[in-house]
Amino acid sequence: MGSVSLHNVNKSFGAVDVIHDVSLDIEEGEFCVLIGPSGSGKSTLLRIIAGLEDVTSGTVRIDDKDVTDLPPKQRDIAMVFQTYALYPQMTVAENMGFALKLAGMPKAQIAEKVRQTAQMLELEPLLQRLPKALSGGQRQRVSMGRAIVRDPSVFLFDEPLSNLDAKLRVQVRGEIADLHRRLGTTSVYVTHDQVEAMTLGQKIVVLREGRVEQAGPPLTLYDDPVNTFVASFLGTPS
Ligand code: ADP
Ligand code: MG
Repeated sequence: MGSVSLHNVNKSFGAVDVIHDVSLDIEEGEFCVLIGPSGSGKSTLLRIIAGLEDVTSGTVRIDDKDVTDLPPKQRDIAMVFQTYALYPQMTVAENMGFALKLAGMPKAQIAEKVRQTAQMLELEPLLQRLPKALSGGQRQRVSMGRAIVRDPSVFLFDEPLSNLDAKLRVQVRGEIADLHRRLGTTSVYVTHDQVEAMTLGQKIVVLREGRVEQAGPPLTLYDDPVNTFVASFLGTPS
């Protein structure tokens, strides 16, 4: 479960074309990083996979099913945002269980799911706290917990570390890598940080002005960049 493929995807906002003919195959279980400068279309592409933006043309498939015209709820995905977007009036446990409650899961089952996930993320001591009583790193972990409890085929991350200080960034990055090792869930991860890309990515897709410049395993991109843009972006002397 969890393959994602984009086929000739284009996206314009009004008269402005922001995504140009992007085709991309992400395999089941793969950790795929989308990297590129600010404004290169990373978030838009991720939102297209999530169903939060429609495409101007092209197709989006998840698990070999054409989901191009389906809303986010009917796609088997969960998104972790840059801003944690936790509900301020709900406890950590309520935040984590909310989507399951909306989906009509029985209370006892929600409690068990939340407990298991909290244990995995070492959030158990924090379950009854409100978001305002959490540190930035803890909030980001709750935000991941909210995605994990839903047991999706695909995780989508939009610069999840960008609001954390340098030390926490390294820690949470390690937690995300661990999580992927343990759960093996297909992940699409947006960043503009080359270290994040190189440490997390099994496949790296370099975007520039809405186009894919190069896609491949980190070492291939590092050793054999197609042009100076890719080389300089990934830090190879050119
Ligand atoms: P990135 O995440 O790589 O920084 P984005 O996907 O957010 O880039 O944006 C790509 C381009 O699309 C930018 O030029 C941005 O201004 C434009 N864009 C994004 N969202 C909208 C929108 N809702 N309306 C108009 N333009 C947008
Ligand atoms: Mg963005």
